[in-house]
Amino acid sequence: MVFQPPQKRNFRVVSNKQIAAGQFELSFSPIDDKPMFNFIPGQWVMIELPDPHGGKIWKSAYSISNAPHTAKEQFEIAIKIDGDFTKRLERLVVGDVITAQGPYGVFTLKPGTSPLVIFAGGVGYTPFRSMIQSIIASNDPREIKFFYSNRTQVEIAYEHEFRELSKKQLRFKPIFILTQETRSDRNFEYRRLDREMLLKYVPDLQIAEFLMCGSRSFMESVRTILEQEGVDVKTRLRKELFD
Ligand SMILES: Cc1cc2nc3c(=O)[nH]c(=O)nc-3n(C[C@H](O)[C@H](O)[C@H](O)COP(=O)(O)OP(=O)(O)OC[C@H]3O[C@@H](n4cnc5c(N)ncnc54)[C@H](O)[C@@H]3O)c2cc1C
Repeated sequence: MVFQPPQKRNFRVVSNKQIAAGQFELSFSPIDDKPMFNFIPGQWVMIELPDPHGGKIWKSAYSISNAPHTAKEQFEIAIKIDGDFTKRLERLVVGDVITAQGPYGVFTLKPGTSPLVIFAGGVGYTPFRSMIQSIIASNDPREIKFFYSNRTQVEIAYEHEFRELSKKQLRFKPIFILTQETRSDRNFEYRRLDREMLLKYVPDLQIAEFLMCGSRSFMESVRTILEQEGVDVKTRLRKELFD
């Protein structure tokens, strides 16, 4: 069967808001009268902007950060400000029109019963926000441990949302890791993820399914810890790379 690329469509900016230091969230709705595209949590879209000087189109991939059941009319992406492309996205205002093509990607939420252990470094949380929202809303009984690592608290996106979700849904446990801050607040872990921290929250590593997304060095260290604990990373650890 020949792969048919998803259609390119134009979308209007519905909102643009800051969600953490150096990070913002954009939501988009289609400008045509057709329904939103369907997607599976974890998938991404290619966002295109015209070149300001009439040259080649500028484009980059972004994971859809809301869950399908909340995306009947609009989809959300969360962006870490970095180079010229993201600075242009940051300047978008309500009503501006962009082109998006998607969904793409196989780093998706798969049905199953194993507890999920998720590792997100920085903006790598975006596909997981969609997965977590989706699991919780669908009464999927899986337990989720969500290790979410940032340097400082101001860089954590959706901290309040994740904490509120965990109060309502005891099977969801976010673990907020701060690698460059130390306080006496017990709501955080104040060092890089290590074996002791992992085992404190996930005593039985042999029954879980592992997912990770973040920088190469973050994912390398997660992989090493799991390997050293005897996890078969080839079959039980999946990853998304944002490079
Ligand atoms: C599957 C996947 C999912 C991702 N999800 C996310 C996510 O959820 N959130 C997130 O923040 N990041 C995500 N990323 C990373 C994202 O795709 C970009 O790599 C990142 O935002 C880089 O932004 P930038 O401003 O540095 O890009 P830039 O390096 O500035 O540019 C990106 C592109 O813009 C064009 N461009 C930029 N400057 C010029 C110029 N001067 N002239 C011509 N063209 C130019 C080019 O096409 C270039 O490739 C994801 C990546 C992948 C692969």
